[in-house]
Amino acid sequence: MEQIKCCKVKFIRLIVILAVVGFKMNVRMFTVGTFFTNCYVVWCDETREGLVIDPGFERQNEWEEILGIIKEGKLQLKFIIDTHGHPDHTCGNGIVKDITKAPIFIHEMDANMLSGVRKQMIGFFGFPIKSSPADGILRNGDVVKFGKLALLVLHTPGHSQGSISLVGEDCVFTGDTLFAGSIGRVDLPGGSGTKIMRSLREKLAVLPEKLIVYPGHGPKTTIREEKKNNPFLQKGFDVSLL
Ligand SMILES: [Zn+2]
Ligand SMILES: [Zn+2]
Repeated sequence: MEQIKCCKVKFIRLIVILAVVGFKMNVRMFTVGTFFTNCYVVWCDETREGLVIDPGFERQNEWEEILGIIKEGKLQLKFIIDTHGHPDHTCGNGIVKDITKAPIFIHEMDANMLSGVRKQMIGFFGFPIKSSPADGILRNGDVVKFGKLALLVLHTPGHSQGSISLVGEDCVFTGDTLFAGSIGRVDLPGGSGTKIMRSLREKLAVLPEKLIVYPGHGPKTTIREEKKNNPFLQKGFDVSLL
């Protein structure tokens, strides 16, 4: 846990330094599994330290492709981060951990979703959770450091209780909270229309508009594009419609 520091001021200072020095965050997106989940491998060019976000793959060939990038790039994985606890984002946690020994981190309010097979989840997703339990928990304001880069954890509940977004210098990973032109569903256990609207308006819409949005499903977009065209981010949107 020593790499996770809970301090927003420190993060902002760090981001300013990184922007000046210009360390590059590499992002590779893989679309995997039955639900076409976006799994991301993110790393620092300078140190080769990196992390995997949402290893939702189910098949060996998917994992082998991702492992290929890690081996080819001589990457050292520091963390496995789940944007939330749904199995389409977490079912590859165990295999990544077995091979790389990287610890699994998830928001504290979704951590229990990794420790047991939940019947309602199997009912919806059609397969059980195949994940090791969490090794550490994340909270709003934590900073995940890898190499000379950092991501700020924003708690963005609504799709699930413990959904998070991860903000970097020029991008944000939004899990199933925000998609290009849409948002994640709120009718699964722990979902809330009111909460997702607050997360969108108070945590994501206030981010710099130039940020690239890497969502949990579908193509990448930007905060600017979503504020302009996403119906859920428009001022008059009625929460009761969710
Ligand atoms: Zn989900
Ligand atoms: Zn999903």
